[in-house]
Amino acid sequence: MSNWRLPWEGGCRCGQVRLRITAPPLLTGACHCTGCQRMSASAFSLSAAIPSQGFEVTKGEPVLGGLRGEIHHHFCPSCMSWMFTRATGMDWFVNVRATMLDDTRWYRPFVETYTSEKLAWASTPAVHSFEKFPTFEDYERLTKEFAEHARTLLG
Ligand SMILES: [Zn+2]
Ligand SMILES: [Zn+2]
Repeated sequence: MSNWRLPWEGGCRCGQVRLRITAPPLLTGACHCTGCQRMSASAFSLSAAIPSQGFEVTKGEPVLGGLRGEIHHHFCPSCMSWMFTRATGMDWFVNVRATMLDDTRWYRPFVETYTSEKLAWASTPAVHSFEKFPTFEDYERLTKEFAEHARTLLG
């Protein structure tokens, strides 16, 4: 087992919504898609895919924003920070915005997605780059590789 030093705490900019994470991430990633650029007000979004049973909102009640479709983007109702994302049919994990975590020292994006839409100058330390999203089969391989990678990263 890697030493993830769980649990992790996190929260939105104003502190009205707080999160707790008790399971290691399955994968970390930066997404360069224009949707993420707009919602994050930045060059790319940073996420950590957390198994759903290891994710908990401990304070406040996030509201839906973003596209309000198959993909559920959850925001703080007060400061409007984009905090985490869930997707219909993929309820085994929650994509937590890594910048909500109180301690981000361990964090690095392992994959980057939608490089086809990235800002010309934007680059990340991701080990794997994808022009769009990886395929379902890719994800299986990537999560295995990420677990190995984390072992060497965290000791
Ligand atoms: Zn807030
Ligand atoms: Zn995106």
